[in-house]
Amino acid sequence: MLNIDLHCHSNISDGLLTPTHLVERALLRGVETLALTDHDDIAGLSEAKKAADSNRIKFINGVEISVSWRGRTLHILGLAIDPKYTPLIEGLTTLRIGRLSRAERIAAELEKIGIHGSLEGAYAYVGNQGIIGRTHFARFLVEQGHAKNIKSVFKKYLVKGKPGYTPHQWAELSDAINWIKGSGGQAVIAHPGRYGLGKNVTQDLLDEFCRLGGSALEVISPSHTPEQVKFYAQHAQDMNLSVSCGSDFHGPNESYYDLGQLPHIPPGCTPIWHDWQNNS
Ligand code: AMP
Ligand code: MN
Ligand code: MN
Ligand code: MN
Repeated sequence: MLNIDLHCHSNISDGLLTPTHLVERALLRGVETLALTDHDDIAGLSEAKKAADSNRIKFINGVEISVSWRGRTLHILGLAIDPKYTPLIEGLTTLRIGRLSRAERIAAELEKIGIHGSLEGAYAYVGNQGIIGRTHFARFLVEQGHAKNIKSVFKKYLVKGKPGYTPHQWAELSDAINWIKGSGGQAVIAHPGRYGLGKNVTQDLLDEFCRLGGSALEVISPSHTPEQVKFYAQHAQDMNLSVSCGSDFHGPNESYYDLGQLPHIPPGCTPIWHDWQNNS
Protein backbone atom coordinates (compact mmCIF):
# COMPACT_ATOMS: atom_id res chain seq x y z
CA MET A 1 0.00 0.00 0.00
CA LEU A 2 1.32 3.41 -1.01
CA ASN A 3 2.49 5.59 1.90
CA ILE A 4 0.96 8.90 0.88
CA ASP A 5 0.37 12.11 2.82
CA LEU A 6 -1.44 14.93 1.07
CA HIS A 7 -1.78 17.58 3.78
CA CYS A 8 0.94 19.20 5.87
CA HIS A 9 2.41 22.59 6.76
CA SER A 10 5.87 24.11 6.75
CA ASN A 11 7.05 27.31 8.41
CA ILE A 12 6.01 29.13 5.26
CA SER A 13 2.59 29.14 6.97
CA ASP A 14 2.00 27.85 10.51
CA GLY A 15 4.12 24.70 10.55
CA LEU A 16 7.35 24.50 12.52
CA LEU A 17 9.75 22.89 10.02
CA THR A 18 11.27 24.38 6.89
CA PRO A 19 10.05 22.80 3.64
CA THR A 20 13.38 20.93 3.38
CA HIS A 21 13.21 19.59 6.94
CA LEU A 22 9.60 18.57 6.40
CA VAL A 23 10.54 16.51 3.35
CA GLU A 24 13.47 14.96 5.23
CA ARG A 25 11.17 13.97 8.07
CA ALA A 26 8.70 12.49 5.59
CA LEU A 27 11.50 10.45 4.03
CA LEU A 28 12.60 9.11 7.43
CA ARG A 29 9.03 8.12 8.16
CA GLY A 30 8.60 6.18 4.94
CA VAL A 31 6.42 8.60 2.98
CA GLU A 32 6.56 7.88 -0.76
CA THR A 33 4.27 10.66 -2.01
CA LEU A 34 3.97 13.98 -0.19
CA ALA A 35 2.01 17.17 -0.81
CA LEU A 36 2.94 20.39 0.98
CA THR A 37 -0.25 22.38 1.62
CA ASP A 38 0.59 25.62 3.40
CA HIS A 39 -2.26 27.96 4.28
CA ASP A 40 -2.87 30.54 1.55
CA ASP A 41 0.73 30.38 0.33
CA ILE A 42 2.74 28.46 -2.22
CA ALA A 43 6.13 30.02 -1.46
CA GLY A 44 7.48 26.77 0.03
CA LEU A 45 6.78 24.53 -2.96
CA SER A 46 9.95 25.02 -4.96
CA GLU A 47 12.20 24.34 -1.94
CA ALA A 48 10.17 21.27 -0.97
CA LYS A 49 10.21 19.94 -4.55
CA LYS A 50 13.97 20.29 -4.69
CA ALA A 51 14.40 18.41 -1.42
CA ALA A 52 11.94 15.73 -2.55
CA ASP A 53 13.68 15.26 -5.90
CA SER A 54 17.05 14.75 -4.26
CA ASN A 55 15.49 12.29 -1.79
CA ARG A 56 13.38 10.45 -4.38
CA ILE A 57 10.04 11.28 -2.80
CA LYS A 58 7.25 12.00 -5.26
CA PHE A 59 6.19 15.56 -4.55
CA ILE A 60 2.77 17.10 -5.20
CA ASN A 61 2.33 20.88 -5.29
CA GLY A 62 -0.41 21.81 -2.85
CA VAL A 63 -2.08 24.63 -0.94
CA GLU A 64 -4.80 24.96 1.72
CA ILE A 65 -7.06 27.87 0.88
CA SER A 66 -9.16 29.66 3.53
CA VAL A 67 -12.75 30.12 2.37
CA SER A 68 -15.84 31.80 3.83
CA TRP A 69 -19.04 29.89 3.16
CA ARG A 70 -22.39 30.70 4.78
CA GLY A 71 -20.69 32.54 7.62
CA ARG A 72 -18.26 29.71 8.34
CA THR A 73 -14.60 29.22 7.55
CA LEU A 74 -13.80 26.19 5.40
CA HIS A 75 -10.45 24.94 4.17
CA ILE A 76 -10.12 23.81 0.57
CA LEU A 77 -7.01 21.92 -0.45
CA GLY A 78 -5.64 22.35 -3.94
CA LEU A 79 -3.56 19.37 -5.08
CA ALA A 80 -1.37 19.08 -8.16
CA ILE A 81 -1.73 22.81 -8.75
CA ASP A 82 0.49 24.88 -11.00
CA PRO A 83 2.19 27.44 -8.73
CA LYS A 84 2.78 29.71 -11.73
CA TYR A 85 -0.92 30.23 -12.46
CA THR A 86 -1.51 33.98 -12.08
CA PRO A 87 -5.12 33.99 -10.77
CA LEU A 88 -4.05 31.55 -8.04
CA ILE A 89 -1.03 33.66 -7.14
CA GLU A 90 -3.12 36.84 -7.03
CA GLY A 91 -5.93 35.25 -5.05
CA LEU A 92 -3.52 33.95 -2.42
CA THR A 93 -1.77 37.32 -2.22
CA THR A 94 -5.12 38.97 -1.42
CA LEU A 95 -5.78 36.38 1.30
CA ARG A 96 -2.40 37.01 2.90
CA ILE A 97 -2.95 40.77 2.90
CA GLY A 98 -6.28 40.17 4.64
CA ARG A 99 -4.41 38.18 7.30
CA LEU A 100 -2.34 41.27 8.19
CA SER A 101 -5.36 43.34 9.17
CA ARG A 102 -6.99 40.38 10.90
CA ALA A 103 -3.83 39.96 13.00
CA GLU A 104 -4.10 43.62 14.08
CA ARG A 105 -7.72 43.03 15.08
CA ILE A 106 -6.82 39.87 17.04
CA ALA A 107 -4.10 41.81 18.89
CA ALA A 108 -6.58 44.62 19.65
CA GLU A 109 -9.05 42.10 21.08
CA LEU A 110 -6.37 40.50 23.25
CA GLU A 111 -5.28 43.98 24.40
CA LYS A 112 -8.83 44.52 25.72
CA ILE A 113 -8.40 41.61 28.13
CA GLY A 114 -4.99 42.82 29.27
CA ILE A 115 -2.73 40.77 27.01
CA HIS A 116 -0.21 43.24 25.64
CA GLY A 117 2.25 43.01 22.79
CA SER A 118 0.65 40.00 21.11
CA LEU A 119 1.14 41.29 17.56
CA GLU A 120 4.91 41.57 18.00
CA GLY A 121 4.85 38.36 20.04
CA ALA A 122 3.03 36.46 17.29
CA TYR A 123 5.33 37.86 14.61
CA ALA A 124 8.30 36.44 16.50
CA TYR A 125 6.93 33.00 15.58
CA VAL A 126 6.34 33.80 11.93
CA GLY A 127 8.73 31.98 9.62
CA ASN A 128 7.73 33.90 6.53
CA GLN A 129 6.76 37.54 6.92
CA GLY A 130 4.15 37.06 4.18
CA ILE A 131 1.73 35.14 6.37
CA ILE A 132 0.45 35.37 9.92
CA GLY A 133 -2.25 33.23 11.52
CA ARG A 134 -3.87 32.25 14.77
CA THR A 135 -1.28 29.53 15.41
CA HIS A 136 1.41 32.20 15.72
CA PHE A 137 -0.71 33.97 18.34
CA ALA A 138 -1.28 30.62 20.03
CA ARG A 139 2.45 29.98 20.34
CA PHE A 140 2.97 33.44 21.86
CA LEU A 141 0.11 32.93 24.35
CA VAL A 142 1.55 29.57 25.46
CA GLU A 143 5.00 31.15 25.80
CA GLN A 144 3.47 33.81 28.06
CA GLY A 145 1.84 31.18 30.25
CA HIS A 146 -1.79 31.90 29.29
CA ALA A 147 -2.41 28.22 28.57
CA LYS A 148 -0.40 25.03 28.74
CA ASN A 149 -0.50 24.02 25.08
CA ILE A 150 -1.71 25.01 21.63
CA LYS A 151 -4.93 23.07 21.87
CA SER A 152 -6.02 24.64 25.15
CA VAL A 153 -4.99 28.13 24.08
CA PHE A 154 -7.27 27.90 21.03
CA LYS A 155 -10.15 26.74 23.20
CA LYS A 156 -9.64 29.54 25.70
CA TYR A 157 -8.80 32.48 23.42
CA LEU A 158 -8.87 31.94 19.70
CA VAL A 159 -12.07 30.21 18.60
CA LYS A 160 -15.46 31.78 17.91
CA GLY A 161 -16.97 33.29 21.07
CA LYS A 162 -13.60 33.67 22.81
CA PRO A 163 -11.84 36.97 23.55
CA GLY A 164 -9.14 36.78 20.87
CA TYR A 165 -11.44 35.72 18.04
CA THR A 166 -12.39 38.11 15.29
CA PRO A 167 -14.55 37.31 12.27
CA HIS A 168 -12.90 37.51 8.88
CA GLN A 169 -13.89 37.38 5.22
CA TRP A 170 -11.84 34.80 3.32
CA ALA A 171 -12.12 33.72 -0.34
CA GLU A 172 -15.40 32.69 -1.98
CA LEU A 173 -15.75 28.92 -2.42
CA SER A 174 -16.22 29.37 -6.16
CA ASP A 175 -13.08 31.51 -6.47
CA ALA A 176 -10.94 29.02 -4.54
CA ILE A 177 -12.11 26.12 -6.69
CA ASN A 178 -11.63 28.14 -9.88
CA TRP A 179 -8.06 29.09 -8.93
CA ILE A 180 -7.26 25.45 -8.19
CA LYS A 181 -8.98 24.01 -11.25
CA GLY A 182 -7.74 26.78 -13.51
CA SER A 183 -4.20 25.86 -12.52
CA GLY A 184 -4.81 22.24 -13.50
CA GLY A 185 -5.25 21.02 -9.92
CA GLN A 186 -7.90 19.16 -7.95
CA ALA A 187 -9.98 20.71 -5.16
CA VAL A 188 -10.50 18.79 -1.93
CA ILE A 189 -12.62 19.70 1.09
CA ALA A 190 -10.13 19.52 3.97
CA HIS A 191 -11.22 17.81 7.21
CA PRO A 192 -14.99 18.12 6.53
CA GLY A 193 -15.76 16.89 10.04
CA ARG A 194 -14.20 19.98 11.59
CA TYR A 195 -16.90 22.43 10.59
CA GLY A 196 -19.75 21.21 12.78
CA LEU A 197 -22.14 21.07 9.82
CA GLY A 198 -25.48 19.30 10.28
CA LYS A 199 -26.70 16.69 7.83
CA ASN A 200 -28.58 19.09 5.55
CA VAL A 201 -25.87 21.72 5.45
CA THR A 202 -23.30 19.01 4.72
CA GLN A 203 -25.40 17.92 1.77
CA ASP A 204 -25.75 21.55 0.58
CA LEU A 205 -21.98 21.98 0.75
CA LEU A 206 -21.31 18.77 -1.15
CA ASP A 207 -23.90 19.66 -3.81
CA GLU A 208 -22.33 23.08 -4.32
CA PHE A 209 -18.79 21.69 -4.21
CA CYS A 210 -19.63 19.12 -6.91
CA ARG A 211 -21.43 21.70 -9.04
CA LEU A 212 -18.34 23.93 -8.91
CA GLY A 213 -16.10 21.08 -10.01
CA GLY A 214 -14.62 19.90 -6.71
CA SER A 215 -12.88 16.52 -6.80
CA ALA A 216 -12.52 14.94 -3.39
CA LEU A 217 -13.18 14.80 0.34
CA GLU A 218 -10.34 14.48 2.81
CA VAL A 219 -11.75 11.47 4.63
CA ILE A 220 -8.60 10.45 6.51
CA SER A 221 -7.66 13.28 8.86
CA PRO A 222 -6.62 13.54 12.52
CA SER A 223 -9.72 15.71 12.96
CA HIS A 224 -12.02 12.75 12.29
CA THR A 225 -13.42 10.08 14.57
CA PRO A 226 -13.82 6.58 13.10
CA GLU A 227 -17.55 7.34 12.69
CA GLN A 228 -16.76 10.50 10.72
CA VAL A 229 -14.37 8.55 8.50
CA LYS A 230 -17.23 6.16 7.67
CA PHE A 231 -19.71 8.99 7.23
CA TYR A 232 -17.58 10.98 4.76
CA ALA A 233 -16.40 7.86 2.95
CA GLN A 234 -20.04 7.00 2.28
CA HIS A 235 -20.82 10.56 1.15
CA ALA A 236 -17.83 10.54 -1.17
CA GLN A 237 -19.05 7.34 -2.80
CA ASP A 238 -22.64 8.61 -3.04
CA MET A 239 -21.51 11.88 -4.65
CA ASN A 240 -18.91 10.30 -6.95
CA LEU A 241 -16.11 12.18 -5.24
CA SER A 242 -12.63 10.81 -4.71
CA VAL A 243 -11.07 10.51 -1.28
CA SER A 244 -7.91 12.07 0.09
CA CYS A 245 -5.80 11.52 3.18
CA GLY A 246 -3.52 13.83 5.12
CA SER A 247 -1.83 14.13 8.49
CA ASP A 248 -2.27 17.94 8.69
CA PHE A 249 1.15 17.78 10.30
CA HIS A 250 2.33 21.13 11.72
CA GLY A 251 5.29 20.07 13.86
CA PRO A 252 6.62 17.30 16.08
CA ASN A 253 4.63 18.27 19.18
CA GLU A 254 1.64 19.96 17.62
CA SER A 255 -0.02 17.17 15.69
CA TYR A 256 -2.14 14.09 16.25
CA TYR A 257 -0.75 12.24 13.25
CA ASP A 258 2.87 12.36 12.26
CA LEU A 259 3.89 12.23 8.63
CA GLY A 260 3.54 8.77 7.10
CA GLN A 261 1.32 7.36 9.85
CA LEU A 262 -2.09 7.51 8.27
CA PRO A 263 -4.77 4.85 8.40
CA HIS A 264 -5.74 3.43 4.99
CA ILE A 265 -8.63 4.92 3.09
CA PRO A 266 -11.80 2.83 3.50
CA PRO A 267 -12.48 0.08 0.97
CA GLY A 268 -14.76 1.05 -1.90
CA CYS A 269 -13.46 4.63 -2.06
CA THR A 270 -11.58 5.99 -5.06
CA PRO A 271 -8.26 7.51 -3.96
CA ILE A 272 -7.63 10.96 -5.42
CA TRP A 273 -4.28 9.70 -6.70
CA HIS A 274 -5.82 6.85 -8.75
CA ASP A 275 -5.09 8.59 -12.05
CA TRP A 276 -1.84 10.31 -11.07
CA GLN A 277 1.08 8.97 -13.05
CA ASN A 278 3.14 6.23 -11.35
CA ASN A 279 0.85 6.18 -8.35
CA SER A 280 -1.92 3.77 -9.15
P1 AMP B 1 -5.98 30.65 10.76
O1 AMP B 1 -6.04 30.15 9.34
O2 AMP B 1 -4.93 31.68 10.97
O3 AMP B 1 -7.33 31.07 11.28
O4 AMP B 1 -5.51 29.44 11.65
C1 AMP B 1 -6.04 28.18 11.46
C2 AMP B 1 -5.05 27.18 12.03
O5 AMP B 1 -5.09 27.22 13.43
C3 AMP B 1 -5.38 25.74 11.67
O6 AMP B 1 -4.83 25.39 10.44
C4 AMP B 1 -4.67 25.00 12.78
O7 AMP B 1 -3.30 24.92 12.50
C5 AMP B 1 -4.87 25.92 13.96
N1 AMP B 1 -6.05 25.58 14.76
C6 AMP B 1 -7.34 25.93 14.54
N2 AMP B 1 -8.16 25.47 15.51
C7 AMP B 1 -7.36 24.81 16.36
C8 AMP B 1 -7.58 24.10 17.58
N3 AMP B 1 -8.81 24.02 18.11
N4 AMP B 1 -6.51 23.54 18.18
C9 AMP B 1 -5.28 23.65 17.67
N5 AMP B 1 -4.99 24.31 16.52
C10 AMP B 1 -6.02 24.87 15.89
MN1 MN C 1 -2.62 25.36 10.43
MN1 MN D 1 -7.22 23.18 7.88
MN1 MN E 1 -3.98 22.13 7.41
